[in-house]
Amino acid sequence: MECPPDYHTHTRFSCDSDAALEAMCQAALERGMSEIGITDHADFEPLDPCHGTFRPEPHWQAVQQARARFAGRLTVRAGVECGETHLYRENVTALLSAHPYDFVLGSLHWVDRRPTFNEAFFDGLTLDEGLALYFDELARLAAVGEYDVLAHLDIIRRAAYRRFGLLALDLAPHESRLRRALHIAAARGKGIEVNTSYSRKGMGEPGPPLQVLRWFREEGGRIVTLGSDAHRPQAVGADFDRALAAVRKAGFEQLTVFNQRSPTQIRLTDTDTQREEK
Ligand SMILES: [Zn+2]
Ligand SMILES: [Zn+2]
Repeated sequence: MECPPDYHTHTRFSCDSDAALEAMCQAALERGMSEIGITDHADFEPLDPCHGTFRPEPHWQAVQQARARFAGRLTVRAGVECGETHLYRENVTALLSAHPYDFVLGSLHWVDRRPTFNEAFFDGLTLDEGLALYFDELARLAAVGEYDVLAHLDIIRRAAYRRFGLLALDLAPHESRLRRALHIAAARGKGIEVNTSYSRKGMGEPGPPLQVLRWFREEGGRIVTLGSDAHRPQAVGADFDRALAAVRKAGFEQLTVFNQRSPTQIRLTDTDTQREEK
């Protein structure tokens, strides 16, 4: 079977990437994908490095050019990765009304002015205090934020890794918090992604871990996407074999793609089963 679509990729329209949009598309083709989701950063938190840097018009034009160039070979989905959409509702509404985006990744990059992506998050907090703060806010984003898929819902791993040197988190003490967020997302018909960027940052397995994927399924979740969070072409589709194996082990038989915010399930085939057993 072809490689599943990568639904979390960045280009030079993100403040932290130099990649040409068409180079990301070309990489997806070369990995054997028939579809890619471009999800550049649109962040509204003033402290965020990408705040105020997203340029919707040239981004949209570049997506249209890529669609024309790769027509018949690769479907190019226009996505956007938005931070804290529960707090910046008017900004997000204005952004999404300008163009018919295919899907929205909802991210929690900041909680109470603390960056979830680096060790400063835990300043003055124990590990469990920080995790509680993060997962409670995740539930609020899940409940009232605008998104189709919650991106890297365990991004707090990155901060914990850098502050405490932890490669994996013991999430058992936070199961009820996490289940609440997952239940809310599932009840709203929203999804989560398996993000494979952690291994590129020296942290091993894709996230969230299998246990959390199982909780999502138990809470009624049915929408899952894979995302490399690639900021350069070489990382497109990275580690998707491991991500796909985890998705199947958790009991999901489908992945989801989006067209103008409308989800479609794509069935994982027997071929995938064989591949995960390698
Ligand atoms: Zn992110
Ligand atoms: Zn991202």
